[in-house]
Amino acid sequence: MTTGLQRLALFGPRPVQPLPAPGLAVHEATLRRGEPQVFACACGLRHFPQPARCSCGLRNFAPQTMPAKGKLYAATVIHAAPGALARRAPYVVGLVDLEDGPRVLLPIFAPEGHVVLPDAALRLFIADHTDGSILAACPADAPLAALRHEPRKHLPMTSQTARRPDRFRALMVRRAEGAKTYAVGFEDIGLTDLPDGDVLVRITHSGLNYKDALALTGRAPIIRSFPMVPGIDLVGVVTDSRSPKFSPGDGVLVNGWGLSETRWGGYAEFQSLPESMLTPCPKGFTAEETMLVGTAGYTAMLCVQSLQYHGLKPGSDAVLVTGATGGVGSVAVALLARMGFPVIAVTGRESESGFLKSLGATDVISRAELSEGGAKALSRERWAGAVDVVGGATLAQALAQTRYDGVVACCGMAGGGDLPSTVYPFILRGVTLRGVDSVMVPQARRARAWDALDQHLDRDLLHSLGQCHDFSDLPALAERLLSGELKGRTAVRIG
Ligand code: NDP
Repeated sequence: MTTGLQRLALFGPRPVQPLPAPGLAVHEATLRRGEPQVFACACGLRHFPQPARCSCGLRNFAPQTMPAKGKLYAATVIHAAPGALARRAPYVVGLVDLEDGPRVLLPIFAPEGHVVLPDAALRLFIADHTDGSILAACPADAPLAALRHEPRKHLPMTSQTARRPDRFRALMVRRAEGAKTYAVGFEDIGLTDLPDGDVLVRITHSGLNYKDALALTGRAPIIRSFPMVPGIDLVGVVTDSRSPKFSPGDGVLVNGWGLSETRWGGYAEFQSLPESMLTPCPKGFTAEETMLVGTAGYTAMLCVQSLQYHGLKPGSDAVLVTGATGGVGSVAVALLARMGFPVIAVTGRESESGFLKSLGATDVISRAELSEGGAKALSRERWAGAVDVVGGATLAQALAQTRYDGVVACCGMAGGGDLPSTVYPFILRGVTLRGVDSVMVPQARRARAWDALDQHLDRDLLHSLGQCHDFSDLPALAERLLSGELKGRTAVRIG
């Protein structure tokens, strides 16, 4: 978020004297309302922005509507600009004599090829940028609509070229024209093979999630565009950037956003990505730990946060976790237990009871025990909430045994995509079924989930519930995950 002072800096050179807070507040509020103002002193002088005191010594100013037109007095060209203004560069900054008003310093945005000369007639407008609104001027006859928004043009790359090899390794999925199946194999590719993007990332780690395993084995139509570098997760270091938000050397993370579906993902030593997909590396985790959490662990936290949002409280409210030995399930068990919820873990692998107890499960029940007595619309109330990764009959049972006013977070379909249930849990017990998606979650919610993971996920436990493997092991690991041979989380060393 841009602070008031940062935003002020967008108006021109850094002010010699910082503005007093009240002046800034008035100024920002008027910009937000789209009504910029000048500040009139009793001596007759008018100012913009509001100064601490007038040259006559008075400190009180009456806000007045800013004239919408003016004339250029003098100007210079800015080639290197901060924040989102970088996309406007080169652009003019000029002293503008407002009609019947003061001389003010403003950025002047003009259509490409348009030269702005002294005495040119200008009009004022508010330009919208990703890091704030800016009062600007443009030639009086220029089309405003095209100038109002931040241009989408690409910025020149800033780079750490020394870190870029000519060729690097990627796991590639290729499908022949008209074929139904596809081939997965390691290839050496070059930077020019990568899709267009704002930021080039040297990937250090990725992970293996259920969706990755489906994509690598072709058991479900995850990949929608070929050829494809799969991998829904990645963590790494920026080597080249044309984004004002990321610089070479920054640690970044990507979870989801269509990676491995329509956009090349994390199973390559380098990847080129749009800046909108990048999350700064979460504090408190190493790169390997970030991928031990991965999409599965971050989804577990999204599920836990949705239970909390619906009012579940640690201490008394028991929570059921299905598919408990898997990636989402194991992290959910560890998180809920650490937060103080009694956790009932459901597993098809009873031999892993000890593992689940070591993560903090209070009780471990088998899949068979969960569905004892067959599919009933409602059964004895046993838990206040549930995190379900299995779907199908398991989700129906979770709903049927959720207590009055409870909530079930549903994020997966490891056991099936159907839901053989009735409306009774909802209309007789007021149960909430809360869907959880991790792929298109806005950045602010991602940051909240990762902050909460930092706070509640025990790092020793994280290492005990996951393992980091070599890049070359990925295809075999995908088969093993789907046949139930892996437990917990699987991270992969890429670079
Ligand atoms: P894993 O394979 O790591 O874990 C799934 C677990 O489900 C298994 O370990 C097993 O646990 C259980 N399970 C597997 N097959 C069956 C079955 N046929 N019937 C009942 N239980 C079964 O996968 P993840 O934890 O990574 O993902 C779980 C689900 O969540 C997947 O469907 C995945 O697509 C989904 N997901 C959704 C996300 C979203 O954004 N909505 C994000 C991440 C994952 P056990 O042996 O202990 O019973």
